Amino acid sequence: MKVLLVEDSPTLRHTMSKFIEDAGHEVLCAEDGETAMQIVENAPVDIIFMDVQMPGLDGFETTRLIREGMGDFWIPIIFVTGESGDDSYTEGIDAGGDDYLIKPVSGTIVRAKIRAMERIVDMRNQLTRLNRELREVSQRDSLTNLYNRRTFEDKGLEQWRLATRNRDPMTLLLIDIDHFKLYNDTYGHPAGDECIVKVVEVLKACMSRPGDILARFGGEEFVALLPNTPERGAEHIADEIRRTLHELNIRHRTSLSSDRVSVSIGGSIINYTTGTHLNEQIKYADQALYQSKKRGRNCATIRPFRPHRKVFVVDNDESNLANISTALDGHCFLSTCAYQNDCMRKIREFNPDLLLLDIGGPDSPGLQYSRMLKKDLKLAGKPRLFISDLDTDSMHHLVQEEGAAGLLHKPLDSHQLVARVNEFLL
Ligand code: GH3
Ligand code: MG
Ligand code: MG
Ligand code: MG
Repeated sequence: MKVLLVEDSPTLRHTMSKFIEDAGHEVLCAEDGETAMQIVENAPVDIIFMDVQMPGLDGFETTRLIREGMGDFWIPIIFVTGESGDDSYTEGIDAGGDDYLIKPVSGTIVRAKIRAMERIVDMRNQLTRLNRELREVSQRDSLTNLYNRRTFEDKGLEQWRLATRNRDPMTLLLIDIDHFKLYNDTYGHPAGDECIVKVVEVLKACMSRPGDILARFGGEEFVALLPNTPERGAEHIADEIRRTLHELNIRHRTSLSSDRVSVSIGGSIINYTTGTHLNEQIKYADQALYQSKKRGRNCATIRPFRPHRKVFVVDNDESNLANISTALDGHCFLSTCAYQNDCMRKIREFNPDLLLLDIGGPDSPGLQYSRMLKKDLKLAGKPRLFISDLDTDSMHHLVQEEGAAGLLHKPLDSHQLVARVNEFLL
């Protein structure tokens, strides 16, 4: 054990040191409170014997400061003092001491005290180790030993903050095993478990850069957060995963998308993370994963995520709203609404960079909204594009008169729409 002896009297320091050394322990000496605190800060000690009366900081003050500095970590502190009053004893224990010896102290007592404290220190060490193990276990998934979802959220946020500070891009992949329910139904649940473990080996082999975080997101779904990985890198990783898994050739005779176990991947890439949240990126990757499933599975959909460009569309025609959503997917963060009572509130809350308004003609609700927007303190400066069935001179005239940024006419061509919207979103 490493024992710190705090004692201002050279004679007592010498005697006590000898007792401790004779018992086979290492001694560090401090002749005042300040030195004691420096030693504790710089090197871990196992027990402290603390004199009470010392010039400068006394033993009680020193103990209070040491306890404050150590937070939850505990080491035994034993006072050694000439003061034998009850009040002094109480003050010592209140200051954070664990025992109180009255001078003169014999070598036998010193050795016995060290043995007693040693037992408690051993228990503390055991508890600390068990706590650490418990934390490790609770952070991981028992089947795959990957981080579980909760740990992913913690560690992911750490990476996310780092990326924000460094203005680094961030890639997030969601990987889901295809037709896995059918796999279980065909080969049994234990075989399903084995299959999950094999898939995880593939994922680990394909993503091994420091900083990459791979976790089990749900049953047969995994998430990977890859800092500093641009679109081409992400596509490369997705290809690697699919190729390696294909070569591994785990038979899946009832799969509807392949003759072997395959995965679908959804990915989102964000250029800089300021002003948005990891959960938003997850949501966006989940939409991409859904696209992969819809496209027939066993494929990857990786898209840039641009939450900083916000477009609001107001239109009463639902199919038109759906077309615009599809066309602008991945190009901006989109919110849509029909002309209805709380439309203005929704627009204000969303605070778009660009508005698309369906304008039927001079009396349409769209025109009234355009006028309300022009008067709105927050939204007056936002560019407005009109959408209309009419491509007439009077419509173009109206666009000018209303100070709108331009006219899009129906039916909307998706490439033109994207090009037009991009003009306003740099
Ligand atoms: P899809 O291609 O649309 O993803 O179809 P799917 O069957 O993979 O998806 P679904 O969500 O319908 O089913 C997932 C299945 O994964 C159901 C569940 O029993 C199985 N599963 C989830 N966790 C485990 C696990 O730890 N072990 C085993 N063996 N199966 C699991
Ligand atoms: Mg003294
Ligand atoms: Mg699945
Ligand atoms: Mg799933």
